[in-house]
Order: sequence, then C-alpha cells, then structure tokens
Amino acid sequence: MLAQIPVTSEADLHAAVARARTAQPTWAATPVVHRCGVLREFGRILHQRRQEVAECITREAGKPNVEALITEALVALDAARFCANNAVAFLHPQRVPHGNPMMKVKRGQLLREPHGVIGIIAPWNYPFSIPATESLAALVTGNAVVLKPSEFTTLVGLKLAELLHAAGVPRDVFQVVTGAGETGAALLASNIDKLIFTGSVGTGRRVAEAAGKRLLPVVLELGGKDAMLVLEDASVEVASSAAVWGAFVNCGQACLSVERCYVHRSLYEKFVLACVEKTKRLRVGNGMDQNIEIGPMIHARQLANVASQVEEAVAAGATVLTGGHALAELGPNFYAPTVITGVDHSMRIMRDETFGPVLAIMPFDSSAHDDAAVALINDSDFGLAASLWTANRARGEALARRIRSGTVMVNDAITCFGISEAPHGGVGQSGIGRTHGFQGLEEMVRLKYLDTDYTGGMAKVWWYGYSPAFARQMDGFMDFLFARNLLQRLAGGMRSAAAFVRKGRV
Ligand code: NAD
Repeated sequence: MLAQIPVTSEADLHAAVARARTAQPTWAATPVVHRCGVLREFGRILHQRRQEVAECITREAGKPNVEALITEALVALDAARFCANNAVAFLHPQRVPHGNPMMKVKRGQLLREPHGVIGIIAPWNYPFSIPATESLAALVTGNAVVLKPSEFTTLVGLKLAELLHAAGVPRDVFQVVTGAGETGAALLASNIDKLIFTGSVGTGRRVAEAAGKRLLPVVLELGGKDAMLVLEDASVEVASSAAVWGAFVNCGQACLSVERCYVHRSLYEKFVLACVEKTKRLRVGNGMDQNIEIGPMIHARQLANVASQVEEAVAAGATVLTGGHALAELGPNFYAPTVITGVDHSMRIMRDETFGPVLAIMPFDSSAHDDAAVALINDSDFGLAASLWTANRARGEALARRIRSGTVMVNDAITCFGISEAPHGGVGQSGIGRTHGFQGLEEMVRLKYLDTDYTGGMAKVWWYGYSPAFARQMDGFMDFLFARNLLQRLAGGMRSAAAFVRKGRV
C-alpha cells in the first residue's frame, strides 16, 4: 500500500468549491503577467523536481520511469511554457471591425473572461500531464480550479497541487478533492461554472447527461480507437517501430494508442514479422527499473477486458503471434505485449477501445484513390487521432483531409499530445471540445462582445417614428448595401487578377 487517503465528503467538496468561488475574483484581477510568472515558476520547480514527480507517477500508475518523465513531466513543462508565453496576447481585447457602414460609428471588441470555477475530472492513465495541462490553461486565464484526480492516481493529483502552490497559486485557487465516481458526480453537481472531463465514453455520457440537465458547459475528452495506415511506399523498418511503440507505450493505456493497424498487402508479411520480432524484445517489469519498457496495467479489471477481447478474437479466427496471456510471474496486473493478426471489423478488438498492450494488424489492398483504406479508418464510432505512413508527404496530407478524426499525423503517432500548440480532442464518441493550444485556452474563457457607440449623444433613426418614408429610406439603404458589396467583390477580383498578371503568371 502506498498511502491511505480520505475521501472528500460532499459537504467538504461544496465548501472547497465555495472557497474557490470566493478566491477566484482576486486571482482574475491579478495582472495576467503575474499569473504567467507563477506558471513560469511552476515550470522551474517542475524542472527541478522532475525525478520526484516521475517516481510518484511510476509508483502509482506503474508506467516506466522514463515515460513518466517524457510523457508527463515534460508535457506539463512545455504546457506551462506555452500558456505563460501566450496568455497576455490571448487575453488582450480583440478588435471586431464592422463592415456595415451604419455600424461604423461603433467600436467592437471581443473580451475573453474567465468562467469562474472550473471543475476538472481526470483519468489515471496520464495522471499528471492531463490535469496539469488543463489546470495551467484554466489558471492562466484567471479561473480557480477544483480537481478530482482518478481514485487510482490520487497521490499524483496531490503532487500537482503541491507544485502549483509552491509556485504561488493560492491554495483556494487550486484545490484537489479525492474519491471515486461519487466524488466526480458530486463535483459535477456542485456550483462550478464549467467541467473539463477526461475519461471513458460510458462515464462521459453520464457526465454529459447530468451537465445537460443544468446546462453546465463541458469539455469531454473520451476514448479512442486510433488507426495507423501503412501505405505501400512506407519504410517497414520505421513504421513497424512506430507501431510497436504506438501500441505498447504506457502498456497500451493511452487514448491515442495505435489500436488498429492497417498495412498495405505488399508490405504486410515483412511488417508483421518486424513487429513480432520487436515486440518479443521488449522488457516488461517494474517501471522503477530504468531498463524496463513496459510496466503493469492499472488494475485487474482493465487486464480482464483486454484478455476477453483477445480471447473473443481468437475464437472468431484471429491468430496471436506473440503474447496473448497474463504474466502472473511478474505480478498481478502484467499482460504480455501482444501482436494479433487475422482480425476484421466484426471483432470487438477492432471496434471497441482495447486500452491495453495489443497490436492488431490487418492487411488492405490497393484501391482507386485509396478509397478502401480511408473507408477502413473511418469505419469507427471513435475519432480521436490517426496516423498515416508514406514516403509521399503530399499523398499523406491529401488522405489526412478525408479522415474523420480530431488529429491526423503523417509519419508519426501519439506525439501530437506533446505539442503544446496543437489542439487535442476528438469527434464522434471521442468527445466534444478541445484541450491544449489556443483552442484549449479558448475553452477556459467566456467570450464577451463589448460594443461602444461613438455617437452616444444622438438618438438612432430606427428608434421608432416608423412611416412609409422611413421604410423607403431603409429599403434604399439595403439597395445601397447590396450594390456596395457587389462593387467590393468586383474590385477585389480585379485586384487579384492584376496581381496575377504582375507576377507574370499570364
Ligand atoms: P473513467 O471514465 O472510469 O474515469 C474517469 C474519471 O471520472 C475518474 O476520475 C473517475 O473517478 C471519474 N468518474 C467516474 N464515474 C463518474 C461519474 N459518474 N461522474 C463524474 N465522474 C466520474 O476513465 P478511466 O478508466 O479513468 O480512464 C480511461 C479512459 O479515459 C479511456 O477510455 C481513455 O481513452 C480515456 N482518456 C481519454 C483521453 C482524451 O484526451 N481523449 C485521455 C486520457 C484518457
């Protein structure tokens, strides 16, 4: 046992949200450069204490120490850099120029204001980087945060709080409540202004239903069934290494895991052989040992789900080429990295999220415009991310546009999560809204349109006194607007044509 942590009572949870609400206006009123400074200090402390953070993650979640360092601490460090470097410009009032001549006497501005108190409900698979990236975006934009970490990784959530407080975030501005689903449900029902939820589709649906009843805005970062497509011109050596890492990193417990791998038939045999060989070489064991590449799964329930998907696929005709069994000799939750072929879309292993160390590979054949390959990828309820592997970048980018998912990577997989500028989120069952990047910051603010009229001393002509003459004037004004738009388009067209001629293209 690592620790005993009391569950936050409902009364204490409501008190925490109330304290956050009281503290938030003062935090929001601090100059944004101050908040950016706090985030930079968080980055400095995290950098200094990164090994302590990584060890805390490995001890609780089981992942290899180096993964805790690069996929958790490093991701959070870079998110702090992104938020601190961009918040000032992002929160600066944005001019909204008016095109309608009648509205030219006004100044339009877009203000980005904090929601107030943001609730964050986090999963166990990236227990530091997920709540950290979301919390940093919420805090820098002036919100208070109440975080409920997963019940399986509470210590990591508390470690995040320790670092944020040490950096200068006031205690009531960032708080952690502890417990399982009931605590999450209580946070959802509390007096928060927005919820950022990351977790499974089932829980996400329950959260959306409860949030819908009270019209609470939510971001839902849910599951994935990410596809990898290896085209006939890809490097087998590179793509097979990517497939093995993409399927097994964090023991396959990543929302962006490679869960379905489609390989052009001309490469299929060589590719499968390479994957099996590389998988057999992986070192499985205690993540605290720096030589270890794959740790245990989070709990027995997760392992049982993976095992049942593999067993069902085998019963339906699939073949396990390596793995396909638990490694009880290593401990209770170890499952051997598994490569499975002979799979198809009638099997759960190709349709449901597996969330375990399984690489399922299926061949595909050439088709006009790669239609068959695109159809395979798009044949899923999920749409978080996909990766395409090809020597022809233009072909990869053209195919990417036809794929229904939040992210498509050409010649890489999963690492999009570590790009702080890149929005993260999915379509379909993979969720609603975005975290990370400017779109992630946008989720943390309420837009306010501010309009200031320069002719405050004058009554507007449309403030009653309607008459046939007034109606004719307005009618004439609409003719004028319509003609003006036409002329503007014509002038624009002529300018483009002239520029075209000047560049010597005709
Ligand atoms: P989960 O849905 O079981 O739990 C997620 C969180 O929700 C936990 O903190 C849990 O205590 C809480 N919770 C449970 N019931 C609740 C309820 N009724 N109301 C409110 N909160 C409740 O998910 P998990 O097993 O912790 O995480 C794995 C899942 O998360 C996978 O499906 C994975 O794909 C997904 N995930 C998605 C992303 C993404 O960015 N899209 C990232 C990581 C994980």
